[in-house]
Amino acid sequence: MSDLSVRDLVVKYGDFLAVDNVSFTVEAGAFVSLLGPSGCGKTTTLRCIAGLETATTGHISIGTDRVVCPGHETPPERRGVNMVFQSYAVWPHMSVFDNVAYGLRTRNTPSAEIATRVTEVLRLVGLDGYGARYGTELSGGQQQRVAVARAVITEPRLLLFDEPLSNLDAGLRERMRFELLALQRRLGRTSVYVTHDQAEAMVMSDRIILMHQGRIVQEGSPRSLYERPANRFAAAFIGNANLLEATVTASHGDGRHTVTLPGGLTLEGHVATPGWVPSGAVLVCIRPENVEPAPDGIPATVTRVSYLGPVQTVELQAGAVTLRADLPSRHVVATGTALNIRIDASAVVLVPET
Ligand code: ADP
Ligand code: MG
Repeated sequence: MSDLSVRDLVVKYGDFLAVDNVSFTVEAGAFVSLLGPSGCGKTTTLRCIAGLETATTGHISIGTDRVVCPGHETPPERRGVNMVFQSYAVWPHMSVFDNVAYGLRTRNTPSAEIATRVTEVLRLVGLDGYGARYGTELSGGQQQRVAVARAVITEPRLLLFDEPLSNLDAGLRERMRFELLALQRRLGRTSVYVTHDQAEAMVMSDRIILMHQGRIVQEGSPRSLYERPANRFAAAFIGNANLLEATVTASHGDGRHTVTLPGGLTLEGHVATPGWVPSGAVLVCIRPENVEPAPDGIPATVTRVSYLGPVQTVELQAGAVTLRADLPSRHVVATGTALNIRIDASAVVLVPET
């Protein structure tokens, strides 16, 4: 059963459509990300679920409760939803204990129970023994944990996260991805996570909902979004891609096609978008790690090499086509030299423009 259902959600600011007819569901216990560039409507969607923003039109249900439907908005405090913000919002002049206990105190929980539960939750987020510290005495990562502890202590039905790791430095941000996800798994709470960071979304999510300009572009597992992008935007936003203009010159059934690139280079490729029959001008997506050296392959010239340690990013010129290849560093390649390449048909994906 889905724990959260958002249907035909629209949010307008004047004439501007911040959220343009968004529908999705989240199954119980799942970790789902709303991913997209800044301004695409992620936060607005999340705030509508929390009740911090009023939907212009649309329906939202949490469990079996309709919290948003025409003429009705359940107040935020009665939705059973807690949100973790990018800014932590940890009260600096309150102890960690009092920060975390706050939600229980407002519910008139007996103080003995508060003490037990705060201790339990602090252990859960790795802040055992930090109860007496003040907000000002905590690092960014510790403040983030307090914010999470505060959100989970009231046992909400739904946990919402709005870019909670964006203020942390790179190393801590990567560690916290695993910690947050492990915590979500232990708690088993249905979670919706907003981020503009595609690596973060890929590492953490059961499912990603990719947004652009207020709309959902594609949703699916991290692998399906990377391997089967729905359009140009999806291919370019998730990972790196060679996106080449091409023409379909032959179709072989089973979604397999021959395409011709500028300069006459031909490749075998396939369609990964269900129901789409390409013809004429199309876009071809080739991930850089799928361009492989092959002695009897397509002749190309190395025009740039960027050594990154485990891989090197190599720019190649194959006739009129410029390609990026990510090659294992054990192949020693030098700018200006010849390198023959092959691209397996399974790695040549025909993609609709929009
Ligand atoms: P995201 O979280 O994906 O970066 P937001 O949901 O915050 O994007 O915003 C989506 C769009 O709506 C942006 O263009 C933003 O400027 C606009 N917007 C958000 N809140 C308001 C508001 N209160 N009034 C007018 N425009 C807003
Ligand atoms: Mg935002």
